Amino acid sequence: MLQYVSETAAHAAHQPWWSPIEALDAGAMQALQQSRLAAQYDYLQAHSAFYRRKFAAAGLGAGAVRSVDDLERVPFTTKQELRDSLRAAPPFGEHLAAPMAEVIQMQASSGTTGSPSYVALTRHDALVWQESSARSLFACGIRPGDRVLHGFSMSKGFVGGLPIFQALQYMGAVDIPIGADGGVERLLAAAFDLKPQAIVGTPNFLLHLAEAAQAQLGRDVREIGVRRLVVGGEPGGGIPALRQRIQQAWGATLTELMGGTDLAVIYWAECDQQDGMHMTAPDFIVTELIDPDSGEAKPFTEGATGELVYTAIQRQASPVFRFRSGDHVVVTGTTCACGRRQPRIRCFGRTDDMLIVRGVNLFPSAVQDLVESMRPTVSGQVRVVADFDGHSTQANLKLLVERAEHEPPGLSLPALKQDIEARVRGALSVKAEVLLAPHGSIDKPGAAKVKLVMRQMPPIEGLQ
Ligand SMILES: [Zn+2]
Repeated sequence: MLQYVSETAAHAAHQPWWSPIEALDAGAMQALQQSRLAAQYDYLQAHSAFYRRKFAAAGLGAGAVRSVDDLERVPFTTKQELRDSLRAAPPFGEHLAAPMAEVIQMQASSGTTGSPSYVALTRHDALVWQESSARSLFACGIRPGDRVLHGFSMSKGFVGGLPIFQALQYMGAVDIPIGADGGVERLLAAAFDLKPQAIVGTPNFLLHLAEAAQAQLGRDVREIGVRRLVVGGEPGGGIPALRQRIQQAWGATLTELMGGTDLAVIYWAECDQQDGMHMTAPDFIVTELIDPDSGEAKPFTEGATGELVYTAIQRQASPVFRFRSGDHVVVTGTTCACGRRQPRIRCFGRTDDMLIVRGVNLFPSAVQDLVESMRPTVSGQVRVVADFDGHSTQANLKLLVERAEHEPPGLSLPALKQDIEARVRGALSVKAEVLLAPHGSIDKPGAAKVKLVMRQMPPIEGLQ
């Protein structure tokens, strides 16, 4: 069991970091990782049928992984494997490696196909999540005693909800638990009433909040006196022009963070230097950088790019080993004036082409599944028209849906549009604006991978 206790909060308030682990020198960190990695490998051999099978298939027996260098011999774990495992043995999959009686918490991820996937936590795992998130929120400038307006989604079981609340409470800060799904009006009312020192949320949503305050209330959010904007969930926080706009709108400093459901809540966080996110949990996660095409590991050198691969060390319930995250990053530095010793990165994209529509994660493949299911009333072809910068929009989701070659007699096009919009809203929680395209006007899938997302409305005649 971890020895981190709440007294850490008062102690840490005037420290440069939450945990001295963040400033541990390379040699000591390597030694710590090696011993925990070996222990985790042995734990999986003993407790995980999923990994025993996977290791055996790769010819890896007892004691085969003793050091970080040994990881190269271990096959990757993919999101698809985890999805298959979850389906084969619900609710937490064949990779559940702790007794159900020891599971005390679960969270959901939205999943690449729109169907959620689930992770389980033991008491120890939950503490690890809180510790790594506390380090991250601290690096982003949140301090014990701060009131923090919760601008990520609170519902749906996502890690941006309850686990952030837990981490803030763990570090001695106060979460104002409204959530993006509580609505702009409610969030702004709470902000003007309670004067939070910090806000967490997606960068585009925080910008939207500031604009909405002006447009709907005629008030300037700078009156609130927010000191810190802590953003994540999408890459926008790292885009200089967008960062500048948001900082100016709020009169506050913006830093970004990153994490994910499969490993923890947050484990990358930007310090006051505002030049990329440090790994904040190297004692809980071994991180590798790989070439996404060849799978070869590469060193974290300044300017290097690649996909992040994670191995949980010290994880009990839902451990992953050499997990391909799909996060594509650039290393922005390996040393830092803040004193943290872990490399800094910026994430520039995810393998899955995720969009965020008014704070809600949306995968184009989920839209495709939905429209496909409406055949033969429509052709099944659909394109998301993402005519905005980046991955996030506060506007309705524009969908181009192709009409069927032989439409049912008496089909009303306005009713069809409404039907599709209602289905998208019901299944994916986003408001869509559907345009119907004549049959044959959208390219059929060929040898090349279908690009479901178009960056501008194509010149198609006869749109309805
Ligand atoms: Zn730093």
